[in-house]
Amino acid sequence: MRLSKRAMSLQPSATLAIAAKAKKLRAEGVDVIDFGVGEPDFATPPHIVEAAVKALSGGDTHYTPVGGSPAMKKAIIAYMKREYGLDYSAAEVFASCGAKHTLYNIFMSIVDPGDEVIIPAPFWVSYPEQVALAEGVPVIAPSTAAEDFLMSAASLEKAITPRTKALILNSPSNPTGGMYDKKRLGELAEVIGGKNIIIVCDDIYHKLVYDGRECPSILNVAPALRDRAVVVNGVSKSYAMTGWRIGFAAGPAELIGALDKMQGQATSNPTSFAQAGAIEALSGDQKCIEEMRAIFDRRRRLIVAGLNAIPKVSCALPPGAFYAFPTVSGYFGAKTASGAVIKDSMDLASFLLEEAKIAVVPGEPFGAPENIRLSYATSEESIAEGVKRMAASLAALSR
Ligand SMILES: *Cc1c(COP(=O)(O)O)cnc(C)c1O
Repeated sequence: MRLSKRAMSLQPSATLAIAAKAKKLRAEGVDVIDFGVGEPDFATPPHIVEAAVKALSGGDTHYTPVGGSPAMKKAIIAYMKREYGLDYSAAEVFASCGAKHTLYNIFMSIVDPGDEVIIPAPFWVSYPEQVALAEGVPVIAPSTAAEDFLMSAASLEKAITPRTKALILNSPSNPTGGMYDKKRLGELAEVIGGKNIIIVCDDIYHKLVYDGRECPSILNVAPALRDRAVVVNGVSKSYAMTGWRIGFAAGPAELIGALDKMQGQATSNPTSFAQAGAIEALSGDQKCIEEMRAIFDRRRRLIVAGLNAIPKVSCALPPGAFYAFPTVSGYFGAKTASGAVIKDSMDLASFLLEEAKIAVVPGEPFGAPENIRLSYATSEESIAEGVKRMAASLAALSR
């Protein structure tokens, strides 16, 4: 069979690949500790489940409008007002089958062949692939561990060309957990201020920030950017609803209209009764977020302290999301007991899976080859044991 060039050049998701490998080992009876997963390990809060069950048994089982039911749109509008202080109308909000699908709709709607989209590194693995699917060109704007992996105004400026169509801002970040504060956002806004560049804000982790912080939006810092910014969010990460597949966007009506057309020919509406659950999540009691966040916070401190106690590993305490992103390049060039050389983060991740029986994600696919990503969406017990195993297996490496 001759598949499309598009299908053949697409990279499978690296994070999903590690998860599959860990799952396979587990099925073989190996006790694998999984730091690979990018989803909360909590059950969806009961009040949300009940709302969906009620919708389902109440007959809410038909098509809704493509971009979400009127009640879904109302809930998104209220959320944008409450969480961002921003006003949107029904024509300016839109629901999709997960934030990933929202982002896909956006790139398909704004990118022409050859258009460049600036992606700050380290980045979520799906951005470059989605941009490429839309026949755009991903332009990577690098940052360093010393800058807390946050794109500087200078790095952004350097990435801009006459073909720049859009910029992706993901704060807090997957994979680093890093967050842009108001000062940094102000500096970035200054660079793009006069330019005709669309800003795609992936805010999926914006409620998962610690130490009493709030995650600012570039739209709070530079409200004038509203006409060419689209905010993407969803219920997956903050409400432990990854399987429900509800994400949403808020932005200019012209763009939202394009998303509606795109989605109308691809999937139509996101699942009707999942929307009912998402409405309850966004509008109901928000206590559940605080409870999950407190647990994540304890795990965050535990894993970062454990990682920093390992020689030649350094890890900043991330302000948001549920990932630790240590620098591990101190072990590149080291030899395993069988004489194999660990050349890069891919080798190190394979070594850790095989020797320590812990699943981590190599930094390479995130554009950060000196790092690995560990999700701490797992129990404190597993974190303690996993970090212990990691330390022991790294200690056994030789030069
Ligand atoms: C998980 C994740 C998404 C996708 O979320 P869904 O709503 O489950 O599709 C988008 N962006 C980032 C950075 C993520 O980590």
